[in-house]
Amino acid sequence: MALPPKPWPTERCEQLQPLVRRVLAANPSPFTYTGTQTYLVGTQEALAVIDPGPDLPEHLDALRAAIGDAKVAAIMCTHTHRDHSPASRPLAAMTNAPIVGCAPLAIASDMPRADAPFDAAYAPDRVLADGDTVSGPGWRLTTVATPGHTSNHLCFALEGTGALFTGDHVMGWSTTVVAPPDGDMADYMQSLDKLRSREDTVYYPAHGPAVDNPRKLVRGMIGHRRQREGQILRLLERGPAEIEAMVPHMYKGVDERLWPAAGLSVLAHLIDLERRGMVEGSEGIWKRIA
Ligand SMILES: [Zn+2]
Repeated sequence: MALPPKPWPTERCEQLQPLVRRVLAANPSPFTYTGTQTYLVGTQEALAVIDPGPDLPEHLDALRAAIGDAKVAAIMCTHTHRDHSPASRPLAAMTNAPIVGCAPLAIASDMPRADAPFDAAYAPDRVLADGDTVSGPGWRLTTVATPGHTSNHLCFALEGTGALFTGDHVMGWSTTVVAPPDGDMADYMQSLDKLRSREDTVYYPAHGPAVDNPRKLVRGMIGHRRQREGQILRLLERGPAEIEAMVPHMYKGVDERLWPAAGLSVLAHLIDLERRGMVEGSEGIWKRIA
């Protein structure tokens, strides 16, 4: 995925709407696009900081400047990937604000280093469940639980504005990586359906530009995943195959650095298809059974 032409306004505070500002961290990569976007929501009297981002000195400096004299009411995390939650701790130390949001990750797996992309030190003061709210004078954020990208993923809706902070669940620049064992394709599809049934008018993702036509994007993403599933089933009709052999067919034209992550999304589809009785995997070889 090509990056947009520079300059990107890293470590600068941009006003997006009356209650919403954004600071882009300087951590661009094939996975984070131009970097992680931290959102500041609310007013001087009470601010929520959504996805504090990576623990980088220049990012914390930029957040400190953006916060100024405002009171931080909550530091909120959509999920615990390393590009999202590590700055919650220095920010909490700096502002005395509680860390609220997603649950810490509980990974039950024997896969080697399955938790490597996760922030294992994340320690929330309060875990939010679907429907739980965080508010200040003139604003209220409501939790929308969206497991799939990770099991603990949450979105936050800013009531009365049509804005939804989508973390990594839905992004405009790329489809989301769903990586087992924690990522789950069936959950992810259900969480897409959940957004499709909502009336949000703008998404603010953690990576990439705001999305102004969110329902169209969500419908497109649901279609895209069904297409991937169909591709997998057709490939397996030709005979049993390993994921490594399927990815180059399915992800032609995609940056090869993303192929290992794409392979994990293929695995997520295969696990889902296996649960539905359509494929069977043994020692890395997958075959169609229905
Ligand atoms: Zn993530």
